[in-house]
Order: sequence, then C-alpha cells, then structure tokens
Amino acid sequence: MPFTAPEDYVGSLTAAGEPDAESLCFVFQQTLLLVASDAPGAQLPGHGQLAGLGTAPLRRLYLGTLGGRACYAFEYGADTRAPQGMLWQGLFALAGRALQFIDWDRTHQFCGRCGTPMRARDSERARECPACALVVYPRIAPAVMCLVRRRREILLARSPRFAPGMYSALAGFVEPGESLEQCLAREVLEETGVRIANVRYFASQPWPFPHSLMIAFVADYAGGELAPAAEEIEDAQWFDIDALPNLPNRISIARRLIDGVVGEMLAS
Ligand SMILES: [Zn+2]
Repeated sequence: MPFTAPEDYVGSLTAAGEPDAESLCFVFQQTLLLVASDAPGAQLPGHGQLAGLGTAPLRRLYLGTLGGRACYAFEYGADTRAPQGMLWQGLFALAGRALQFIDWDRTHQFCGRCGTPMRARDSERARECPACALVVYPRIAPAVMCLVRRRREILLARSPRFAPGMYSALAGFVEPGESLEQCLAREVLEETGVRIANVRYFASQPWPFPHSLMIAFVADYAGGELAPAAEEIEDAQWFDIDALPNLPNRISIARRLIDGVVGEMLAS
C-alpha cells in the first residue's frame, strides 16, 4: 500500500550517534525534497553535502533505521538555495512521475504489433521493437473537468464511488479526434442534459492513476433541463454558492476549481 512503512524500517526516537556518510537524509523545504539533479532517480544527498546549503536546518529529526542505515529528516528555511548538483523537487510530483514510468515499462515489455520483446532506447524515454521498429512512448490520457455556473449556482454531480454526500465538478476522458472544448460540451450534455458556453481554462494537474492529465475549465450555463444520466452519475444538482454540499479534498484540482470559481462569484 502507498504510504505504509517499508518492512526493513525500524522506527526509533534516539540515534546511536551523529549522522555520517552512511546516513539517509530526507531534507525538506516545506513540501520539497532535496535530491541530486544529475542522478537518474531521486538520489538523496549524503550528510556531508548538507554543508553546501550554507545554513543550519530549522529542525532535525531522527526517524530510525532503514536496512540498518540511520535515517534523518531535516527542514530548511524557505529561502535556502540548493547546493551545486542538487535541486528541490516536489515529492508527490516526483513519485507520481516514477509510478507512471514504472507502470508504462511493465505494460510495454512486448511489441503490441508483432509480440517481440521490446528494449529501452538509450537516447530518450521510449521502448522499441528490434524486429519491426515500432517505438512507444509513455502515454498520457487527457481528461477534462468542467464547473458550470448559472447566476449564483454551480452544477455539481456525484459518482457512486464518492464518499457519501460528496459532490464534485463533472469530468470525463477525452476521446480520440476530439478537442478539449468538444469533450467538455459532450461530457456535460451526456451526463446532465445541460449545454454550456464561454469555456475558460482554469488549471491542469497530472494524475498518475494510471496516466491521466486532468485539465479543468469553467463554463457558463447556456440551456437545457437538468437530467442526470443514471448510468454515468448517481445525482447532479444546481447548488447555491451559499449552500454547498461536501466537496473533494483541498489538494485536488476539483476543489481548487470549485473554491476559485465560488470565490470569484462571491466577490462579484
Ligand atoms: Zn514489433
């Protein structure tokens, strides 16, 4: 399971000694992790390299041992610059990217055209077939999200897999040959019977389960009676911005979209 401790980890409060060259150092600046910029993966700095940060950590915590190596967590201030050869990397962005590359590698062991075992290309992140020369790249499946506004209301829907009482913006995968705008109009119409206009881009977020890119938009109501499609969603309703239901977690793009649009509507 994600976020469960590895089996060879032994938690402990007190270190046997001071950090040394063997220690694993998890060095944070807020949610960013310090890693080597020239290493192929997320290589952690050695304790000796922390001197290059030029300042003392705000805090140092001992975590225990992993495979016998002492583990420490450090926090440095927001303005601390990464030393030469290292950079501050978004942890979840990095983990998400790693997960997608792993998944892609595992599912492209054989050529989809002729069945020959594929091999990795040296020059770029791609796998190629030595028999028929088919080249495959990690793929991304774009999905769109749409928050529809109507006067003081927003259109939210719930899927049967949502937590009880939770509603969110409408979303769906883009089909081959479709523009993002066409996909938005189709998804909203299919799922709710509502037509939209004045589509505006909001933001995008990679989503590694397994390889999506969510692209979020705001749109205005342009007509149609609300008629939720039973096979796609459990319910859809117009909610007054002063009486919203339970919403998705704040780290999700759906919640950022809803908060952003509602904030704009409240201010106008
Ligand atoms: Zn082939």
